[in-house]
Amino acid sequence: MAYEDEPKIIHKHINVPDIKRIDVYEAHGGYSALRKALSEMSGDDVLNEVKSSGLRGRGGAGFPTGMKWSFMPKPLFPKYLVCNADESEPGTFSNREILLKHPHLLLEGFLLGCYAIGCNHGYFYLRGEFFKGYETMRRALAEAKARGFVGKNILGSGFDCDITLHVGAGAYICGEETALLSSLEGDRGQPRLKPPFPAVAGLYAKPTSVNNVETLANVPFIVNEGAQAFRQWGPEKSPGMKIVSISGHVNKPGNYELPMGTPFREIIYNYAGGIRDGKEIKGFFPGGSSTPMLTPDKLDIAMDFDSVAAAGSLLGTAALCVFDEDTDIVSVTHRLLRFYKHESCGKCTPCREGNDWLVAVLSRLAENKGREGDADLLIDMASQIAGRSFCPLGDAASTPVLSGIKNFREDFEAHITNPQEERIFIPLHSNGHH
Ligand code: SF4
Repeated sequence: MAYEDEPKIIHKHINVPDIKRIDVYEAHGGYSALRKALSEMSGDDVLNEVKSSGLRGRGGAGFPTGMKWSFMPKPLFPKYLVCNADESEPGTFSNREILLKHPHLLLEGFLLGCYAIGCNHGYFYLRGEFFKGYETMRRALAEAKARGFVGKNILGSGFDCDITLHVGAGAYICGEETALLSSLEGDRGQPRLKPPFPAVAGLYAKPTSVNNVETLANVPFIVNEGAQAFRQWGPEKSPGMKIVSISGHVNKPGNYELPMGTPFREIIYNYAGGIRDGKEIKGFFPGGSSTPMLTPDKLDIAMDFDSVAAAGSLLGTAALCVFDEDTDIVSVTHRLLRFYKHESCGKCTPCREGNDWLVAVLSRLAENKGREGDADLLIDMASQIAGRSFCPLGDAASTPVLSGIKNFREDFEAHITNPQEERIFIPLHSNGHH
């Protein structure tokens, strides 16, 4: 069956012309889940349905969404739902497509989330570079307000919910939920110590749930069709569909919504059209640049949270970055570490100073001026960052170094022993279309 004809949740109508307009969205069943919830279900019913669906957060950590919502203390008001639309991890671009093409689906999922946890004022935190996404969301929000889906007494149900859109200033670290909340409050976007967790003291020190774009966009389907319908795809512990953002050396990069559990080989060779020029795969990041690189012997593992973890990596955001046999892993690592060094917020020493040093050594390697023992030096430095930093960015930065050298040590050695060899590196890129 062609990819276009296969079942989908979020992508079902994403390419319908003008689906970003409320008339078209409603003509395709849009806002029926919100109508159903407000007329037939309590907030707890929505929460329980999401809990039964087994939906796990699509932003990287994979924490069960219903459980996260149930941590919100019931009698405390106000409480907040915040949509994390700060997608910035190298290799990720699935949220961007939802924001640009399907804003009402996201708004509907967000409103359902607010109803489930009893939030009367929700916030969208949009990545600073998402100018077009902000414009799309702004127009969609105005349309939804005019139709009575946002604001006071929504659809006569007595439920009030206002929404504020906030655009960040372009810092990757604000994708970390506590840094995001600090930034939203007007402070410097730096992570906070946990506990307290946001569910206890989040935005303005009130109970807060921070949820990813793709996570929320799954909720209308769950409310409309029920938890069991969502569970028809994927394994017991990672149910549903997942949008895989494929980039790198494949013939058809882009976003593909596929059942959880689809093997990586099938994703790369069937959906993404295989490797360009018929070449072999050298390695791949299964879930964005922060996830340990895997080698081709892992191509048959299933794309779901637990299978990827069992194989020694992480599903992350399922941003699958594929590198062909010609790729120089030193170039990849160097490029990524320049990103992490730039994005380090500077709050803690291992990440602030360590990434600087990693880039210094990687730069000399990349320039073929490496010294004997540089690979071990890199491992030593990265190990001083991993597990010793204040927030996950430190771990994320050390991961490409540690997994790169573990799997492809010969690339690092070659820059010292054979510096004249010609190496090719094609930068990661994708236009986000099939
Ligand atoms: Fe900031 Fe990096 Fe420390 Fe995180 S690990 S708090 S980004 S310096």
